[in-house]
Amino acid sequence: TKRMRLDKMLANMGCGTRSEIKTAVRQGKVTVGGFTVQDSGLQIDPEADEVEFDGQKVRFREVVYLLMNKPQGVVSATEDTRERTVLDLLKPEDRVLQPFPAGRLDKDTVGLLLLTNDGRMAHELLSPRKHVDKTYEALVSGTVDEADRQAFAAGVTLDDGYVTMPAELTVLRTDAHFDAGTEPVSEISLTIREGKFHQVKRMFEAVGKKVLFLKRVAMGPLKLDERLAPGSYRELSAEELEALK
Ligand code: URA
Repeated sequence: TKRMRLDKMLANMGCGTRSEIKTAVRQGKVTVGGFTVQDSGLQIDPEADEVEFDGQKVRFREVVYLLMNKPQGVVSATEDTRERTVLDLLKPEDRVLQPFPAGRLDKDTVGLLLLTNDGRMAHELLSPRKHVDKTYEALVSGTVDEADRQAFAAGVTLDDGYVTMPAELTVLRTDAHFDAGTEPVSEISLTIREGKFHQVKRMFEAVGKKVLFLKRVAMGPLKLDERLAPGSYRELSAEELEALK
């Protein structure tokens, strides 16, 4: 495999700036293959050499795939001067490789969001022609019924005239109540194969209902990991990554 400078590898893995790394090396805090190194410019094999920084093993990676449970109140845009973004939730060492959200969720939508720096994979997932399944669970005002299911299966006309592709609507519960409100609400699951702006909310608007709470639970082969608290994330497992490729 290709070799690279030790300080470059450590900087790319988020251990600090080049000068902080130089200082750490001088202080004897960096080992390669178990030996304390003197030279921060040492050529190493980043894949094969065991590098420790301040007693912590440093794992080399060039691509990063993070599965997040997006919380409410943050936007999934990468840059926003006023609002907190999902990137603000990442630890510094996960931010250095510059992952970006593969797809958007509204500020008030929660659930599965993939963050990656693998542009090719993001493109494959998001390309409108690929029709990757996205499954949402939602709390919707009123009683969602068979007529709605059939309308979504046939395609509904959004406010801008766009007719949606066939989508699968399943009613999970219709006697639910929201925030101690008196109006009935329905819990539903909806799978769509496209991703127009605010699509789920606008599809329900098209049948005269309002989405009160929206959570994405699946995208392609990926499922939301319910063990992830809102705002937390983990790396994709080898199986998840394999399923995406
Ligand atoms: N549809 C919406 O309306 N909002 C989202 O965040 C995702 C899908």
